[in-house]
Amino acid sequence: MNFKNLNIIQPILEAINEIGYHTPTAIQAQAIPHILNGHDLIGCAQTGTGKTASFAIPILQLLQEQKVPKRAIRSLILTPTRELAIQIDENFSTYGKHLGLRHLAIFGGVPQAKQERQLKNGVDILIATPGRLLDLLSQKCLSLNKVEILVLDEADRMLDMGFVRDVKKIMTYVPAKRQTLFLSATMAPEIKKLAMEFVKDPKQVNV
Ligand code: AMP
Repeated sequence: MNFKNLNIIQPILEAINEIGYHTPTAIQAQAIPHILNGHDLIGCAQTGTGKTASFAIPILQLLQEQKVPKRAIRSLILTPTRELAIQIDENFSTYGKHLGLRHLAIFGGVPQAKQERQLKNGVDILIATPGRLLDLLSQKCLSLNKVEILVLDEADRMLDMGFVRDVKKIMTYVPAKRQTLFLSATMAPEIKKLAMEFVKDPKQVNV
């Protein structure tokens, strides 16, 4: 198995080559085909398994292949912490370096003004922690009505950190017709129940 077998487009293959990955990890091999086929996904995977690339690579590919106007937020990645938001943003930089898509991470604990300016420039992929995103949404600094692919990353941690209400509120700004990827390190019954509120007819992957 290599990335070419997963039908990854050439500019992303080049980026993968440049960082020296040869073989997709288990979560990548399982999740990427489902995501490229447009399915919803419930993925059970820990940090360190290559889970970020398992959604970043196919999201970049799906958005790149579309011919719709750019610079509207077409993918939203919700993640619990600033550190994770930054890491995910770096992944999009790495795999998307030969594409023209714009991505941005927003999180709390830093002034809002710069993030507002960056949003005004136009963004294709937004990575956000729930609190800061809700603040910006309530101030009408951004719109999520063009979102096609939504990722809930580390959903179990978002639940533990008390973000469920915020996440559910954010969901009301996102179109119902969308592709949803729900990722969690654990799949306790309450997490599974939460997942089923957000996904439709999902494929499931476990690593
Ligand atoms: P993550 O689980 O997304 O936090 O990724 C864990 C680490 O694995 C990161 O440092 C990635 O750069 C690295 N990684 C992701 N995919 C691969 C791969 N296919 N081959 C080798 N390393 C990888």
